[in-house]
Amino acid sequence: MPTSPAPTAPTLARASDAPSAAASPLASSLAHVARGNTCAGCGACAALAAGKVRMTVADPGFLRPLQTAPLTPAEDEAIWRVCPGLTENVETEGRQDHVLWGPYVSMHTAWASDPEMRHAGASGGTLSAILLHLVESGTVDAVIQTTAASDFALGNATVVTTDRAGVLASAGSRYAPSAPLADLHERLAEHQLTGRRFAFVGKPCDAAAMAALREIDPQVARAVPVILSFFCAGVPSHAGGRAVLAALGAEEARTRSFRYRGNGWPGRATAVLQDGTERSMTYHESWGRILSKHVQHRCKICPDGHGALADIVCADAWESDENGYPLFEEQPGVSLVIARTALGERLLNEACAKGRVETGPFDVDDLVAIQPGQRERRRALAARLLALRIAGRPVPRYRGLHLLAAARQNSVRKNVTNFLGMIRRTVMRRA
Ligand SMILES: Cc1cc2nc3c(=O)[nH]c(=O)nc-3n(C[C@H](O)[C@H](O)[C@H](O)COP(=O)(O)OP(=O)(O)OC[C@H]3O[C@@H](n4cnc5c(N)ncnc54)[C@H](O)[C@@H]3O)c2cc1C
Ligand code: SF4
Ligand code: SF4
Repeated sequence: MPTSPAPTAPTLARASDAPSAAASPLASSLAHVARGNTCAGCGACAALAAGKVRMTVADPGFLRPLQTAPLTPAEDEAIWRVCPGLTENVETEGRQDHVLWGPYVSMHTAWASDPEMRHAGASGGTLSAILLHLVESGTVDAVIQTTAASDFALGNATVVTTDRAGVLASAGSRYAPSAPLADLHERLAEHQLTGRRFAFVGKPCDAAAMAALREIDPQVARAVPVILSFFCAGVPSHAGGRAVLAALGAEEARTRSFRYRGNGWPGRATAVLQDGTERSMTYHESWGRILSKHVQHRCKICPDGHGALADIVCADAWESDENGYPLFEEQPGVSLVIARTALGERLLNEACAKGRVETGPFDVDDLVAIQPGQRERRRALAARLLALRIAGRPVPRYRGLHLLAAARQNSVRKNVTNFLGMIRRTVMRRA
């Protein structure tokens, strides 16, 4: 990290802090992210420098920060410390710490007891059931989460939900860009005025940014006491979503809504056209054949597709083939639920005791077989990062993520293949 003038304590800026200047030199943090193309699109920088940085859609359809005014040294410094495109730091703090799956307290299979929620959820609706428990128990007042955008069928929107209807409407995975931290300064202003507290659910990189923000700003820790996340293989661009629509023969302008997953397990990618007719394809066809080919660069070098910095994480607990696709067509959903912190464990137990969530046993050793994509990316990462460094491409600074131990689970030959593959892709991109 380059040296910058001594920062004052970094906190989330208010929009009123924004100067009126329009053109400005890019902050060193954002310039570094842009050079490495390591933006994950979380939106934390837009909250840290509200009024000076905002999220926009950049080709081929990813959410990226646009800086419109000079940042103060403190804002730049805060982005260096929080941005998952620059850094990610995991502390074990006495917990079991699996080389591939990170620190955890317990692992179970789980599903929402509410059948409608279980059906609507991406896997077992477990995240939604826990979120609803958090609100109904008064642990938090509201949830910051992601749902389908009302004006763009393929897109996402960040919403604040407070009841079953809101949580249910946001259930299911949206394989498209989301920036759930971009409005965080507004939630913090609410917290200051009213004491309102929020649970946050986001991709692992969003969770990491939120956890880092809580480290540098105690007000964030008070306003957002619980972080939930899910396993994440990568975020596809809107171009990926458009390719799915094209394969379905659904014209985007005539598509009223689009559901990537959920409503069954794994649930079909479904476009509803303006005339009410539906076109759909399986998860294997949508994610496997199309969307997975459109993920951003940061996802290919992601050390944390498993949400190491959340309190509770969910994933698909399916039996899968060697490519990670379920060995069944459709059935009632089952999530894997990982309590990563003592708080997460307590909240999960409470949700079970209140009858919101049902759990079954799960053996951590089974994860290697049912999450092959995550396994392979973790093991390949050290070789890929080395290749990028040698090629002069900036990469994020990862700490506590056991990259070398994971690489040692691969043969030397496989590590060399991953290294050469990344070098080749980097050279081709330059050419
Ligand atoms: C981009 C992406 C990649 C994924 N990759 C994997 C994977 O590799 N392996 C795996 O096991 N599972 C993966 N999942 C997660 C999986 O699809 C389920 O979300 C997970 O099993 C939780 O299911 P659930 O039924 O408990 O959650 P639900 O009850 O359906 O709740 C889902 C929650 O996730 C939030 N959410 C949905 N989409 C987004 C988004 N784009 N950004 C931020 N928040 C969002 C919703 O607001 C909701 O709160 C991925 C999900 C996404 C969105
Ligand atoms: S990863 Fe997040 S914080 Fe970093 S530049 Fe991208 S949007 Fe901003
Ligand atoms: S793969 Fe990693 S970087 Fe990409 S969206 Fe998921 S958590 Fe973020």
